[in-house]
Amino acid sequence: MRYYDTVVDLIGNTPLVRLNRVTEGIEATVLAKVEYVNPGGSVKDRIAMRMVQDAEAAGLLRPGGTIVEPTSGNTGVGLALVAQQRGYRCVFVCPDKVSEDKRNVLRAYGAEVVVCPTAVAPEDPRSYYNVSNRLATEIPGAWKPDQYSNPANPRSHYETTGPELWEQTGGRITHFVTGVGTGGTISGTGRYLKEASEGRVRIIGADPEGSVYSGGTGRPYLVEGVGEDFWPDCYDRSVADEIVEVSDKASFAMTRRLAREEGLLVGGSCGMAVVAALEVARRAAPDDVIVVLLPDGGRGYLSKIFNDDWMARYGFLETSGTEATVAEAL
Ligand code: PMP
Repeated sequence: MRYYDTVVDLIGNTPLVRLNRVTEGIEATVLAKVEYVNPGGSVKDRIAMRMVQDAEAAGLLRPGGTIVEPTSGNTGVGLALVAQQRGYRCVFVCPDKVSEDKRNVLRAYGAEVVVCPTAVAPEDPRSYYNVSNRLATEIPGAWKPDQYSNPANPRSHYETTGPELWEQTGGRITHFVTGVGTGGTISGTGRYLKEASEGRVRIIGADPEGSVYSGGTGRPYLVEGVGEDFWPDCYDRSVADEIVEVSDKASFAMTRRLAREEGLLVGGSCGMAVVAALEVARRAAPDDVIVVLLPDGGRGYLSKIFNDDWMARYGFLETSGTEATVAEAL
């Protein structure tokens, strides 16, 4: 019999898949690290696991404890999964702009979700930062992972994502491209790859136009999970050799191409990272190996990026003419 003891044993060891169509005209090899095959559906399962293990080891999280975090996205799912398997209660705090579908995913794993009004100032006691801080102090045995400052976030990538890529490419990786949100992925994976290659591997961050990493002030953008309006502790400024700025429009167009042309139904930050990776690949040598990390799957974005009306409303739709032709023929 061949089986895993628990679902958390499925975290990590994700595959590399070559990109074959969107790379037309490019000679270098471009490989995608497909993180949606993690059991919670994203790269964030890795950090959830390591943050919980570290908190247990440090005595911050004890049997019967509660995990409190202001998150509605992938980190919440990863934490909910790990917490449930290890017997902890989970309380997530999210703003009311977060879709009901996303809240229901967290509830499906057994987590509790506290919804806070978006239309209040950060210092308002009802703001989601304040509510999560209050819950973390008031609930006995509560622990707040804080993915933005928790060193276990970059360390999980230093210990897993980095070594996996070095091993999977037989040390032939020349460039690593990834989106930057908390900075955990780029800092941990990048540092490992720099050390393993004695500085040879180039590390490239992809960032939405307007975010601080590419020199912006936090101007709003629509791609989710990446870009910041502050510098998180998890971001190590010494790791990235270059930051490539990508517009929402280019990110979403590439996200749709990845589904249609590569069979990879992935999220918007994946499209963003691939745009940056192709820019790097165009200037690379023919035998270079560029790895781009794809953080999550596309199912959570069906009513946005994969919805023509939503795309058209923001002026993002590139019409291929196919739909029009079909409609005319009917
Ligand atoms: N893409 C998505 C969809 C994410 O949820 C995240 C995590 N915030 C990232 C990219 C960026 O990863 P990191 O936080 O490690 O910088």
